[in-house]
Amino acid sequence: MSQPSPVTSVQSLLGEGAIWYRSALYWVDILGKRVHRYDPATGEHREYVTPETVGTVVPRATGGLVVALQHGFAHLDEESGEVTPLGEPVDPRPETRFNDGKCDPAGRLWAGTMGFNSEPGMGSLYMLDVDGRVEEKIPGVTTSNGICWNRDAAEMYYIDTPTHEVWAFDYDVKTGAIANRRVAVKIDPAEGAPDGMTIDADGNLWIALWGGSAVVCHNPATGERLRKIELPCEQVTSCAFGGPDLNELYITTARVGYNEEKLKAQPLAGRLFHIELDVKGVPAFAYAG
Ligand code: CA
Repeated sequence: MSQPSPVTSVQSLLGEGAIWYRSALYWVDILGKRVHRYDPATGEHREYVTPETVGTVVPRATGGLVVALQHGFAHLDEESGEVTPLGEPVDPRPETRFNDGKCDPAGRLWAGTMGFNSEPGMGSLYMLDVDGRVEEKIPGVTTSNGICWNRDAAEMYYIDTPTHEVWAFDYDVKTGAIANRRVAVKIDPAEGAPDGMTIDADGNLWIALWGGSAVVCHNPATGERLRKIELPCEQVTSCAFGGPDLNELYITTARVGYNEEKLKAQPLAGRLFHIELDVKGVPAFAYAG
């Protein structure tokens, strides 16, 4: 199998939140306070500066983007780059920030928070409903990370990184209610920690391994490992299927915490990677509010 290769010249401090929409790959640099958009057909790269850290980006069905900034949600106008808050701050504490998040099949945005230094239990998983109301869904999480839903929206998968587990929940797509939490996948700590995640058309999970230099594919019904894609840098943060046929995996990475020596050893840390696969993803969902 071929190896993932870097795309664009962007070298994020903390790349995250990869998502394919409107023929482009979007991702964020959380600590670099940037939203990136790359159109592989034209080669065009656009960059938006955010006023706070930016944990994730999702498209908005009515146009533009929605971002999870340090304390709450905001609209980002793709033409002007203007950022407008959506409602009040969700968590105004200075020592926490939003991290990864994605939309469910009904267009609700789920995104979670964490302490800047991953202090245990300081974060929560929130749901921004299409009417603008925010609900705290899971309190006491440490590093809120990857989230996705299966094809019929009957299951939600979610990662709180230091648990080294991917949790599955029964999902009620009509109400956004979650129930019956169980462990779907366990990652051996010697392999790294589960970070961002996406799902393919067969219902298998693709999980970025922080500190593990890899993306791994697991069947959530059995927990079984199906595949491992190696990367030339340790901190692998998120992945998303993209391309016209949704058979290309885009992978974000980070160089945060690297000293000069480590960056010399892993010069591609922080880059966006790309690999063609014989597996297809599923289209991403936009925020419907
Ligand atoms: Ca992450």
